[in-house]
Amino acid sequence: MSDKLLVIGETRDGVLRNVTFEAIAAAKKIKPDGEIVGVLCGEDELEKQGQEMIYYGADRVVTLKNSTLKTYTSDGFGQAVMSVIDEESPYGIVMGHTAVGKDLTPKIAAKLESGLISDATDIEVDGDEVVFTRPIYSGKAFEKKTITSGLVFVTIRPNNIPALDRDGSRSGDIQAKDVDVTDLRMVIKDVIRKASEGVDLSEANVIVAGGRGVKSADGFKPLYELADVLGGAVGASRGACDADYCDYSLQIGQTGKVVTPDLYIAVGISGAIQHLAGMSNSKVIVAINKDPEANIFNVADYGIVGDLFEVVPMLIEEIKKI
Ligand code: FAD
Repeated sequence: MSDKLLVIGETRDGVLRNVTFEAIAAAKKIKPDGEIVGVLCGEDELEKQGQEMIYYGADRVVTLKNSTLKTYTSDGFGQAVMSVIDEESPYGIVMGHTAVGKDLTPKIAAKLESGLISDATDIEVDGDEVVFTRPIYSGKAFEKKTITSGLVFVTIRPNNIPALDRDGSRSGDIQAKDVDVTDLRMVIKDVIRKASEGVDLSEANVIVAGGRGVKSADGFKPLYELADVLGGAVGASRGACDADYCDYSLQIGQTGKVVTPDLYIAVGISGAIQHLAGMSNSKVIVAINKDPEANIFNVADYGIVGDLFEVVPMLIEEIKKI
């Protein structure tokens, strides 16, 4: 049996996403002595990014180049990645449970007629058995799963499996390949993005999230300031997004982003189950709410009962002194 694992890397604006390094660490956990082969898709050769994957633990990298791979499409990336899988016949495949990972991996699994364990938060190895932990029922419970035969195919939740330390002395082969991508049903001509500032929400270590209690778009300004002094990102409840206090791209929860930062500060958020689904696995949760009965306090490690318009400026002032 092959002991090779493919790690499908992900870039944004040419920069590798952190979850790529975490996926390499996950692959190492699955087969500590196995060969880790990084896979990158793009319009260019991505040699620099391939080298980074090697510094973080990949043994070699295959970069797949085609003008249609500038922007992600499941069809284009699917065809490109399938060509490497056919060639390498890996024991397993690991990718981040990101928007791209969630879209691409089921398609590949279906093509391969393989199973897929999605959204793993932990991996334990017991002899030949690899056990994956994943949240179920919107994070209210965890299940442990193992794959008894066939391809070990898994996506990992960002911010849960720590990346290995970067070792700039590591070396490995980076093979650039032109791939054929044919009969695409959709081609992305251009991506017009809303300007976004600061830290990427899904990879932030600190998140300050606002809810309906923040009362207005202006009310979010102190939250941005708090996020700024903590080096974090701003998120929101759906209540705040629905009320037009902020953009839906900030929504955290069952129908928004799932985040696992080291510190989550919930400001004026009641703690509806659909919100908890997106943040309850954060390492430390701080809740600021004027209602001592608010459900958010049931998942919080630290609770501040008070008016957010007084508490948040006080926090900013105190943190600035540190
Ligand atoms: P509220 O429930 O109105 O809470 C506001 C809180 O602010 C209250 O607890 C109040 O005490 C506090 N507050 C008010 N003023 C102050 C003040 N001055 N200082 C301090 N505290 C104050 N929600 C999500 O968040 N994410 C999702 O992905 C999501 N998906 C959903 C999917 C479905 C199918 C459905 C049905 C709902 C979904 N929801 C989701 C909505 C969810 O049920 C809640 O309605 C929503 O989370 C409530 O947002 P909120 O906590 O900001 O508002």
